[in-house]
Amino acid sequence: MSVLVVGSVAFDSIETPFGARREIVGGAATYFSLAASYFTKVSLVAAVGDDFRDDHLALLNRREIDLSGLERCNGETFRWAGRYHFDLNTRDTLDTRLGVFADFKPKVPERLRKPGYLFLANIDPDLQRDVVSQVERPRLVGCDTMNFWIEGKLESLRKTLAQVDVLVINDSEARQLAGEANLVRAAAAIRAMGPSTLIVKRGEFGAAAFGNSGIFAIPALLLDSVVDPTGAGDSFAGGFMGYLARHAGDRPADDQMKRRAIAMGCVMASFAVQAFGVEGLLDLDPAAIQQRYDEFRALSHIDLA
Ligand code: AMP
Repeated sequence: MSVLVVGSVAFDSIETPFGARREIVGGAATYFSLAASYFTKVSLVAAVGDDFRDDHLALLNRREIDLSGLERCNGETFRWAGRYHFDLNTRDTLDTRLGVFADFKPKVPERLRKPGYLFLANIDPDLQRDVVSQVERPRLVGCDTMNFWIEGKLESLRKTLAQVDVLVINDSEARQLAGEANLVRAAAAIRAMGPSTLIVKRGEFGAAAFGNSGIFAIPALLLDSVVDPTGAGDSFAGGFMGYLARHAGDRPADDQMKRRAIAMGCVMASFAVQAFGVEGLLDLDPAAIQQRYDEFRALSHIDLA
């Protein structure tokens, strides 16, 4: 089944201990779309400004992402700037400029209104809900958000969460959203807001999923070079949703299927962090994806006697 995503398409300025880049193409929906495109057809609903040129668009075209819902508006493309600390697990946001997203009214094209899977990538929760209201109820609605929206638009975010099946956020966002330091208790509080499954991304420590059948935890692939963690979470979500869309399709995913999808999320995140910006997601060989997925088996297998 296909995946529809709404979220930011951006120019990012990034500083890590390994270098810096100014105004490169990024955005939550961009990373998500590229990662998911290795598994299924992806359509993108977002806005960019008139500073977003054809060569920027070409990055998305390269992966044949359906851009009929990408509007080019007068004004500036969304901009985000961040600086990572030495261990790469924490970062400071230096600047967030909404640009054309400040007045954006998403219009989901008619032929995209029956998506099998819908992902509400990081963006104003009002816009996320606007897209939900325009489509037929999908098999699965996934969602991501960020401290920026938890701090600035909590009430709207809660309304969005009431319509979400799977929320994918990082551990500090989970604690902040729940107002609870203990992750297990935070997960229970967040699941009471709507999502039946909460996936908590834990940076280099992997991910944990909290759902009806308990807790599942998975490590991250340990890599010998990580240069830019930006978009790891969105790439994780793209791998996760893309895998489910391809392998579960219109059937409900059982626990094992969801676990495999989480492993594939970690695999796609691992490719994203090995280069600056979206570079690591542009030309992946399906065999390389499969090889990393297989490495997970060796990394995480315990034959408990
Ligand atoms: P991640 O590293 O997975 O948290 O995602 C980083 C991406 O999210 C960057 O490419 C940013 O352009 C984008 N981003 C940062 N802040 C926001 C925000 N407040 N709303 C939407 N997207 C954002």
